[in-house]
Amino acid sequence: MAVTCKEAESLVMPYIRHELEVGQLEEFLEHIDQCANCREELEIYYTVEVGIRQLDSDTDTDRYNIKGDMESDILASKQEVYKARFVSILHYAADTLVVMSLVVTLILQMRIWWQNGIF
Ligand SMILES: [Zn+2]
Repeated sequence: MAVTCKEAESLVMPYIRHELEVGQLEEFLEHIDQCANCREELEIYYTVEVGIRQLDSDTDTDRYNIKGDMESDILASKQEVYKARFVSILHYAADTLVVMSLVVTLILQMRIWWQNGIF
């Protein structure tokens, strides 16, 4: 399910503040990758937000690369999404293994019962 530009815009600030849950994050990043307008929107908000934060600190603004910072932030977010996806695959695999081993145990148990003439 893809997000619209309107939805993506409403996710910009929560994204910058790292408030998005993984599902939203994934949709937002997907949209940002495809939509130049929203990416630009993000850049503007990001610059403002980081700029304000810098006013509070004594960081050397000349050496500070906001755009590069945003890019690496986006990259980190993507890795977060991949990691979450990987973990959910692992969980799924683990669940499947548990069910399979239960089934195998049951089959073996039934064989034992069958061999003992219970059935
Ligand atoms: Zn858009």
